[in-house]
Formats: sequence, structure tokens, C-alpha cells
Amino acid sequence: MNSDKNHVSRGNILIVDDEPNNLRVLLNCLIANGYDARGVLNGEMGLKAALSEPPDLVLLDIMMPHMDGYQVCHEFKKNDNLKDIPIIFISAKYDSLDKVKAFRGGGIDYIPKPFQIEEVLARIENHLRLRQLQQELAQQNLWLQAEISQRQAAEQALQAQNAQLQREIRERERAEAELAKLNEDLARSNSELAQFVSIASHDLRSPLTTIKGYGQLFKMRHAQSLEAEGLRYIDRILDGCDRMLNLIDDLLQYSRLGKGGEQFSPVSTAEAVEEACQNLSLEINTNHAEIICRDLPVLTADFSQLRQLFQNLIGNAIKYRGEANPRVEVTAIAETEQYLFAIKDNGIGIEPESFPKIFQMFKRLHGPSEYPGTGIGLAICQKIVQLHGGRLWVESAPAQGSSFYFTIPILG
Ligand code: ADP
Repeated sequence: MNSDKNHVSRGNILIVDDEPNNLRVLLNCLIANGYDARGVLNGEMGLKAALSEPPDLVLLDIMMPHMDGYQVCHEFKKNDNLKDIPIIFISAKYDSLDKVKAFRGGGIDYIPKPFQIEEVLARIENHLRLRQLQQELAQQNLWLQAEISQRQAAEQALQAQNAQLQREIRERERAEAELAKLNEDLARSNSELAQFVSIASHDLRSPLTTIKGYGQLFKMRHAQSLEAEGLRYIDRILDGCDRMLNLIDDLLQYSRLGKGGEQFSPVSTAEAVEEACQNLSLEINTNHAEIICRDLPVLTADFSQLRQLFQNLIGNAIKYRGEANPRVEVTAIAETEQYLFAIKDNGIGIEPESFPKIFQMFKRLHGPSEYPGTGIGLAICQKIVQLHGGRLWVESAPAQGSSFYFTIPILG
């Protein structure tokens, strides 16, 4: 074996031959040609040597005592660690029967004795090269197998993801269909409800007007013959009639919103506020309210809805007044895609917990004896703003006044 550190071996060769002369010649020749070569004199030793350090190639004599070359070769092929090592038979018995036996037993080549050393070297080199190529091929095969498995795994993962996605899509489609159906049902029941409210309100209005009319007539004609208690009762009846008429009017107004009757056109919000103030002139005068308007724009909207919106918000700002005379500021700021309106008052203010409540139908924070009202005004405002594609909200604190804000998109 070569102990030189810089020596690069051309291959590790094991020679098994019971003729010491042969062995020596081959060993010397192989070492001289750059191989790491070992030699043993019989088959058992050959197997042992191969097992302790598997060689790259074996030169195996056929005719040996105890265990001949065929048997040694058979043992090599039985062993998992040795079975792939190429074996070249060397023998004086150069007849075709032995060659066949040698190849069937797993030998890869056959060199007859006496041999020419150049031929031995050429065959060894060829077979080592062949073995190296086989090993490289096997390695490449392994890599290829690994890549195929990786691809298969990735494909499977992809398929699983796809299946999951398909499931999700189906689930979403089902949910969407369900939602569409619910929406349809909701729209139908909403429109039925609105129709019912509209019809019921309308039908309730006329008997109520009759009651109120006869009540007023009764009071006018019989006031002198009534005692104070009787007068109080009739006043209560008339008061109730007014409240009920207001409620019916508000309900009618609410139910008519969003029925496609909106007329969008460029309107002056200053004019809408002015008309709202005219309608509120009684409240403004009796409360000595001051209404200040600033920077009110022209925008695309439904004029009568906008007037109603300002009327409800300014009306509330006066109704829910504090000690001081009401002061209401109506302003607007142009933002990138919308106008931001603010209606600020110096009234009694609202607890923040009540903010979500006050926009709901019939939700009131005070009894009718404290402040008259139906609890529908802000619900109407909310619907008007929504119909214009905007948002309505409040900022307030008790005794700090309230600011109602709403947005109206600027239409291109
Ligand atoms: P209504 O005024 O008929 O009660 P709204 O829907 O207009 O009904 O208002 C709902 C509730 O919100 C009112 O009962 C009142 O408590 C509160 N609110 C509305 N506007 C104001 C305001 N400017 N200041 C204080 N409270 C207000």
C-alpha cells in the first residue's frame, strides 16, 4: 500500500492468487502503475480482506485449493457489501466452458494465463472506469428519484391545496347564494313592511283626523259647560291625537324613503338649510335660537331629502337645548371625494354609550313629557344620508353640546 500523502490512487485492487510468483508480479506491476494493491493467497483470506476494506476491483484466480475462484465469486455476490465489486478472473484454464461459468457466476471479465501485463492494466482501467460510470449513474439515478419524489410530493401538496381551494370556493358560493337568498327575503319583507306601514299609516290618519276634529269641535262648543277636569281630559285627548299624527307622519315619511323616488340634481345646501329654517321658524323664534351657516356648497343630491335632513338635525339641536339660548352652527368642508357636514349645538349633549341607540327607530333618551318626539327623526336622517352614499355619526358629551356629522360623496 502507498503511504505517500500526495499519492492519488487510481484504484484499490485486491488480488487473490495461490501462486506467490504470480501475486508478486501483479502486485509490483499494479503499484508501479499507481494502484493501491493488496494480495492474498487463498479465497478465504480474499473474502476477509474484502470485507475489512472493500476494494474497487478484484483479480481472482480460478484454480485454488479449498475454495476455487467460482466459489469465492459466489460468496462475493451473496454479500450485500461486496456484490457490486467487479471481479476479473485470471486462469490458465482458457476454455469456453470456464468462461461461461465465470460470467454466469458474476465475473465481469476473464484474463487467461500467461497474461500480458499491458492487457491486464488495460482491462483493469476499463472496468474501473466502467464501475465509476455505473456509480455515477446510480448516484444520478438516486438524485433523479429524490427529485421525482420531491416533485410528486409538491404535486400532491398542490393537489391538496387545490382541493381545499375548490372546497372553499364551493363553500363560499353556497354561502353567497344563501346570503343572496336572505337578502332577497329581507328586501321582500322590507318592502312588504314599508308597504304595510304606508297603508296602515295612511288608513290610521283619517279616523285620527276625525277624532281630533270632533275633539276640537267638542272643546269649542262645550268648553263653558265642562269642569276643569273635563277640560283637562279633552286636552289630553287632543294632545294624544297630535302625537299620534306626528308619529304617523314620521312613519309615512320613513317608509317613503328609498323607494326610488329620489331626484338627484345639483342643489344648493345653503338653500336647503334656509328652507329647513323657515319650516322651523316657530321653534327658532320661541327659543331665540341663532343659526350660523358657513361654506355650504352646491352638490348633487335630492333637495327635499336634504332639507328634511337639516330640518331634523337643526330641529333636534333646538329641541334638546340647554340653559343658554340655542346656538347652532352648520358648516361644510370639502374633502378629496366627499363633503363633510357638521351641525354643532350648545345643548344638553348625549352620553357616548347612547350614540348607537339614538339612530334606531323609536329609540329616545327622554320621555314625551320631557321632550316631545317620536324617536324616528334620526332614523330618517340616517336613511337619507345612506341613500346619498354617505355616513352619519355623532360626537357629544353630557352638557357639552352635540356635533352631528355626515358625509355626502362628491359625484364626478
Ligand atoms: P326624537 O327627537 O323624536 O326623540 P330622534 O330620532 O330625532 O327622535 O332623536 C333620538 C334621540 O336622540 C332623542 O330622543 C334625543 O334623546 C337624542 N338627540 C337627538 N339629537 C340630539 C341633540 N342635538 N342633543 C341631544 N340629544 C339629542
